[in-house]
Amino acid sequence: MQERNSNEPRCTRCGTCCIQGGPALHVQDRPLIEDGTIPLADIVTLRPGERVYDQPRGGIVVLDAEMLKIRGRDNTWTCVFYNHEGHDCAIYGSRPVECDVLFCRDIAPLAAMYDKGRLTRRDLLPEGHPLLALLDEHDARCAPADVEAAARLARDGDAEAGRALREMVRYDRELRKLTTDKGGMDPAMGDFLFGRPLSALLQTMNIKIYDMGESIRFDFAPGER
Ligand code: SF4
Ligand code: SF4
Repeated sequence: MQERNSNEPRCTRCGTCCIQGGPALHVQDRPLIEDGTIPLADIVTLRPGERVYDQPRGGIVVLDAEMLKIRGRDNTWTCVFYNHEGHDCAIYGSRPVECDVLFCRDIAPLAAMYDKGRLTRRDLLPEGHPLLALLDEHDARCAPADVEAAARLARDGDAEAGRALREMVRYDRELRKLTTDKGGMDPAMGDFLFGRPLSALLQTMNIKIYDMGESIRFDFAPGER
């Protein structure tokens, strides 16, 4: 949301853009994370290779670099700081830079800065932090491009790819459980540390996961995206 001088078209603070999705975070937003305005548990990491909605282009793109985004609420991308009742932003006075720059009737300023100076997990976790090794291992074992490739083959009946996909899903789940059960972390931190769960990535391909006792079954719905 942006305020302009009275002679120009102005943002009416209607909240439509907040309902469509919260902002990606940039280096200018780092103080907001450091002072607790935006807790890490309210950030979702979108990893390279994921398919995401690109606001300036108005379509789905494959990410080529990591992006940190404010989490959504109620299983939507509606910004967690958006208050439906009051139609306002809980952190408006300290809103992230994308929200400050965005004006829906002229998205050129947003497009100009959209993919520049984006924050990453490694900007926020100090060098040598014990979790960094886990992030690297998770990225190596569950890279979104590998998940998508295995899912496509498994959909076509490749049993080996199905086994590999199951292993990735198990590992992704166990790692998140480990950091909460043994590390005592807020479960919401998993989306910051390891990105969206693989179940969410597979859902974007119309693939659902069912637990059958100890085993995992995939349901490949038609209409793959
Ligand atoms: S930028 Fe546009 S959509 Fe967003 S709050 Fe302002 S008027 Fe509404
Ligand atoms: S941080 Fe505030 S202004 Fe930005 S999308 Fe969320 S609710 Fe809207």
